[in-house]
Amino acid sequence: MNTTPGLVCAHHHLYSSLARGMPSPPYTAKGFTEILETVWWRLDQALDLEILHWSAKLGALEALEQGTTAIIDHHESPTAIEGSLSVIAEACAEVGVRVNCAYGVTDRHGPEGAKRGLVENERYLKNGGHGMVGVHAAFTCSEETLESAAQLATEFEVGVHIHVAEGKVDAGAAERLKHLTEENWLIIHGVYLEDDHELSGTIVHNPRSNMNNGVGYANPVRFKNKIALGTDGIGANMLEEFRLAYARHRENDVSATPEISWEWLSAGWDLFPEAIDDKVTWNYGHIDPWHLAYTTGTRPVEIEIGDEVVWKDGKSTRVDESEVRAKSAEAARKLHQRL
Ligand SMILES: [Zn+2]
Repeated sequence: MNTTPGLVCAHHHLYSSLARGMPSPPYTAKGFTEILETVWWRLDQALDLEILHWSAKLGALEALEQGTTAIIDHHESPTAIEGSLSVIAEACAEVGVRVNCAYGVTDRHGPEGAKRGLVENERYLKNGGHGMVGVHAAFTCSEETLESAAQLATEFEVGVHIHVAEGKVDAGAAERLKHLTEENWLIIHGVYLEDDHELSGTIVHNPRSNMNNGVGYANPVRFKNKIALGTDGIGANMLEEFRLAYARHRENDVSATPEISWEWLSAGWDLFPEAIDDKVTWNYGHIDPWHLAYTTGTRPVEIEIGDEVVWKDGKSTRVDESEVRAKSAEAARKLHQRL
């Protein structure tokens, strides 16, 4: 067998596709909070909707070329909030990739900024957008903002998509969130959660990002919650993320089997069931966890999303990859100049 449904990236940041090659930070970050301050919180401030369009389009195309047909995105662009979720959704639609959007509400820019984030989530959902209510993280939000986000999600019958206990700075998140969470919430990272944290929802494990930020190993087998896999914005190659999830699990417990990490990858289909009907034909005939855990270079030959072939003969049938790359490079230059 060499086919699977479309793979799902359960946590992505399409706004980060153009971060590659950005100027070095003003000083070398020594921990998680400084990484946020020197890289991501500078980058997100410099985004406008035009740059965001190319960032999302490039990210969607790079997801597709790895067989990922559905992305659960978490977005922030504090100086271009209004309309941003629709820009991401439209860019993905042009490539043909499915997306679930959320705007990461935060009080980092004062209560007025938080309000604007909530309004963007509401505007997008009200217009029939496929999404959730986003929250950056408890440690950058007031109680009032957390409660408003939870309330808005309930109103639209969707979950909240929130970073939780990624770094030590947010270790107190569970205490502040446990009366709010529901089964349809997406709890991202959970590195510093206690085993019995009392939060409901799916925990999304992002092994490469956790290594990259030096925050430690989440060791997700210790949780009762369902576990899914995300990339946290470092591409959307889900077979690669699965292999890395397995390697980290194995590093922690040498008796670990790849069936567990495969289960985490498969949980993406519970979060984004539409992807089950997508069909990816791979260049490798052993689609089972033990083979894939040790096989690099597995790539899609053909991809159908809905009933449309969107990838064939190594390229997109809908967009011209060289044009997307050229326009994205131009947008990246503009973005990097602002930094
Ligand atoms: Zn994230």
